[in-house]
Amino acid sequence: MAPRRLFVTTALPYANGSFHIGHFMEYIQADIWVRFQRMQGHEVHFVCADDAHGAPIMLKAESEGLTPEGLVARIAAERPRYLNGFHISFDHWHSTHSPENTELSQSIYRALKAEGLIDTRVIEQFFDPVKGMFLPDRYIKGECPKCGAKDQYGDACEACGAVYSPTELRNPYSTLSGATPVLRSSEHFFFRLSDPRCVDFLREWTQSGRLQPEVANKAREWVEGEQGLGDWDISRDEPYFGIPIPDAPGKYFYVWLDAPIGYLASLKHHFDTGGAAHLTSQSFDQFVADPGVEQFHFIGKDIIYFHTLFWPAMLKFSGRKVPDNIYVHGFITVSGDKMSKSRGTGISPLRYLDIGMNPEWLRYYIAAKLNPHVEDIDFNPDDFIARVNSDLVGKYVNIASRASNFISRLFEGELVDVTRQPTWLALDAAAASADIAHCYETRDFGRALRHAMEFADRVNQAFDAAKPWELAKDPARRDDLQAICSVCLAGFHALTVWLKPVLPALAEKAEAFLGSGPLNWQDALRLPARVARYEHLMTRVDPKLLESLFEPAAGTAVAATDAPPAKAAKTGASKPAAPEAPPAGSGVVSIDDFNRLDLRIARIANAELVAGSDKLLRLTLECGEDRPRTVFSGIRSAYAPEQLIGRHTVMIANLAARKMKFGVSEGMVLSASWDDPTRPEGIYLLEVDTGAQPGMKVR
Ligand SMILES: [Zn+2]
Repeated sequence: MAPRRLFVTTALPYANGSFHIGHFMEYIQADIWVRFQRMQGHEVHFVCADDAHGAPIMLKAESEGLTPEGLVARIAAERPRYLNGFHISFDHWHSTHSPENTELSQSIYRALKAEGLIDTRVIEQFFDPVKGMFLPDRYIKGECPKCGAKDQYGDACEACGAVYSPTELRNPYSTLSGATPVLRSSEHFFFRLSDPRCVDFLREWTQSGRLQPEVANKAREWVEGEQGLGDWDISRDEPYFGIPIPDAPGKYFYVWLDAPIGYLASLKHHFDTGGAAHLTSQSFDQFVADPGVEQFHFIGKDIIYFHTLFWPAMLKFSGRKVPDNIYVHGFITVSGDKMSKSRGTGISPLRYLDIGMNPEWLRYYIAAKLNPHVEDIDFNPDDFIARVNSDLVGKYVNIASRASNFISRLFEGELVDVTRQPTWLALDAAAASADIAHCYETRDFGRALRHAMEFADRVNQAFDAAKPWELAKDPARRDDLQAICSVCLAGFHALTVWLKPVLPALAEKAEAFLGSGPLNWQDALRLPARVARYEHLMTRVDPKLLESLFEPAAGTAVAATDAPPAKAAKTGASKPAAPEAPPAGSGVVSIDDFNRLDLRIARIANAELVAGSDKLLRLTLECGEDRPRTVFSGIRSAYAPEQLIGRHTVMIANLAARKMKFGVSEGMVLSASWDDPTRPEGIYLLEVDTGAQPGMKVR
């Protein structure tokens, strides 16, 4: 069989923040599949990129006093540490803010236009007269037109659940400047997805049996729904951080147009810079036009619409090859809770590495939970400890340590050929190997690992049944002892091959132990002739590490540098360079110490009395995040709630969340008072000059 030729991507992460655990679930899933394909001898090109464009990045950069390029570069600089840390084997990582992406996006647009699939239309939209820009829905707030609740977003009311358009809000205001937005009209560009050619193509492409059933059903609802496919607004007006639309001054492609094209741009840069030369002599253009190449995208369930409708249609009608499949996964929850970065219940991948946790524990755990369906998976700390300790250490690694003990001590590492040994034949490694390969191919990783662990159970049982500790006492039965240990180590060898897509670093150590060199899939049934002295392959998970992983994440930046040094040193984990600290006890702090505090402008959206407390007020603070925070503040003696509502003040946003009798306090507002009881009493909340916006950094 000729090797397959594969082009594989993961979704492009938005370059306005660090990776979270959800990114790594996807990267680990795709990486396991890719490593399995490489072990089969197939040609794989696995790429990703930063998704760099759009209003949120432009505005975040502005609020930090950076250019968008500067912000994206800062985020990009931290990527390799995470990706290498979890052994994600991308062949290339690029950016959508690149010459390749500009060229490809503009050329795809021109081709769609030549096909008659681009329209222009004048639409009315809210415009912020102070910022001088059109406002995306998420930057408009006002009173709910249905229930009158204040401070509701432009698309839906959190109080009553009503859905509306931003123009229906009462007393709307721009969250960027506070100004009242005005309606303005502007010409927008549309991709005519409603064109019968697009509808016919998408009906066929989405229903041809390639997509996961639940994804195909979703797509059918969209394509066949009563409203049919709507045309897609692909333009944004300046100011915008994006790719200019050709021959349309002041107009940019909406970020979702150029983001998937970033898959091609990353691949192009990879080919153009010689990164693929060891696998193919084709150019980028030849490769992507080659009907023999298969193209797969791993994505989350939240972006199915873009990837099963817009993306294939864009490719098809610009005369390009369409994807062979889109592999969709669900979300990851943590102990049953949907993770939320702002509330600090997620797991920080960097903290995971910094406290010295083994990245392959997480790879194994996530793999064990994955199947080919669009299902959410849950990270449960107790389950994590149990699976890693019982499967990986208790079953797999245990085989090598037990059997090699006798082999090294009594046989100088020599194994016998077990090809015809009934114990070996009874294990039926050939059937297991074919079965596990099929599971990997179909992304049924949980099943692949279950089959591997069942095999490991059979090997351990065979070892126990032979009672090698008794054989060792009887010099006449040395051959039997060597044989059973050889069978077990042959089983360990096969397991190493089968687990290698999930545990690449452990496999490398096992390969050194087995003296095998890099193992490929067909090596699973090859028998090892001797083993080196056994060295520790993997430690058990210490439950204390999990506790440390879940320490209040509100102060991730603070926590990350607080990793227990002894542990970190022992496991060789890289620690962030310690900031240059002034001598302890001097009372002087360095600028780095100060920078660890996330001080921000907050708008007090609501303030209320707390039943049962005569000291506290419950404040609802907007601080530039998706959701407001709740903070309990001991300022009741100085302020009535109604005096505070609508005021701006300063809060510390990365203070560890604190569970109080009345609820969880997610930060602290800053106020002034005397420490000295002889001075006048009084508490004075900090006030901010007019113009400061919620979320702005205080520095
Ligand atoms: Zn409402």
